[in-house]
Amino acid sequence: FGATTTVSQRELIQQAIDDPEKVVIFQTAPAVRVALGDSFGMPYGAIVRGKMVSALRQLGGDYIFDTDFGADLTIMEEASELLYRIKNKRELLPQFTSCCPSWVEFTEIFFPELIPHLSTAKSPISMLSPMIKTYFAKRMQIDPAKIVTVCVTPCTSKKAEIARPERNAAGIYWKKPEIRDTDYCITTRELAQWITDRNIDFAALSESEFDSVFGESSGAGTIFGNSGGVMEAALRTLMYLRTGQVADREFLRFEPVRGLEGVKEAAITLDNDIIHVVAISGLGNARKFINRMEEKHSWKKYAFIEVMACPGGCIGGGGQPRTKLPQEIPAKRARIESLYAMDKENPIHASWENREVQTLYAKFLGEPCSELSEQLLHTQYVNKHYMLGKEDKVVPPPKPERK
Ligand code: SF4
Repeated sequence: FGATTTVSQRELIQQAIDDPEKVVIFQTAPAVRVALGDSFGMPYGAIVRGKMVSALRQLGGDYIFDTDFGADLTIMEEASELLYRIKNKRELLPQFTSCCPSWVEFTEIFFPELIPHLSTAKSPISMLSPMIKTYFAKRMQIDPAKIVTVCVTPCTSKKAEIARPERNAAGIYWKKPEIRDTDYCITTRELAQWITDRNIDFAALSESEFDSVFGESSGAGTIFGNSGGVMEAALRTLMYLRTGQVADREFLRFEPVRGLEGVKEAAITLDNDIIHVVAISGLGNARKFINRMEEKHSWKKYAFIEVMACPGGCIGGGGQPRTKLPQEIPAKRARIESLYAMDKENPIHASWENREVQTLYAKFLGEPCSELSEQLLHTQYVNKHYMLGKEDKVVPPPKPERK
């Protein structure tokens, strides 16, 4: 499987599993469920959600939550933020997505002048973890210091994201800053290796469901794993937030932002306002696009831009089972199709329709971009242009006020 760095991470997770005082909680990102099967000889794109959950239970997880729930939460915050900028802060458009840590780091180093345009909404993993250590801990009366959170991701960069100094929102909430939001991160490949080492017959596992509280998710949360998925998910909820109307499912299928092309543009009309959007995958494509925008001064045309570092999005992440040409493209296409198939089957289409998300806002957070949401679900970025050995380009202004 090519995993070399997880032994110590795995040992630490195993120590937590073996410690009766600890409560070990896994969450699994959308793209893992359509790639993990590759490692066990299943067809490309095989949907192994239920088997994956069963495997994590066998490995010793006390609760298994769905990062797709975190994706729905990200969309609630990010779409609300976008709507605020459209109505009140047009100078901060376009808004860029921020759930890809490689893109965020790229912006901080090479284009710090874009920092005010990055959504302050955290990634799905970095939203779900503090929810586990605050809302869930309270509800279940578990000492948050005893909770160990582990994310399973297609992404090697998530290991750096969870280690960012400010990812201790739950610790700040409890006035115990040493509590980290996410304790460990393992990739799809590393999980496959762990399952293999434990002699678990993955193909023979029965299906099991995610645990409730953070187990329900919309189809919009699932398609986060595809390039264009965050954009499509955000537009589904933006439509409702902006118009108050529940749009037809077919109307909310944004075909132009689907597929493997590196740059995909689209436009939708909301309340007589034409919203131009772009979904970009691959940092080379992002660099070219930004340079072109700057040259042509075409900033004002766009309202929302999604950037994912990996070609095709997280389905092609660096932590996924490896495929080499000529299988690489068919494998990616199969994963993409499987995520859209899951979206199609899901009766919950848009993030705002997720009942567990609604409950979370009603019982704990209040509303998107509330004071508590800002504290737990939003972040700030750092100008790292100095890493290039040059003068800082700009000092980014403080986080934009939303109220
Ligand atoms: Fe990670 Fe790649 Fe997904 Fe970005 S696109 S979050 S780097 S897997």
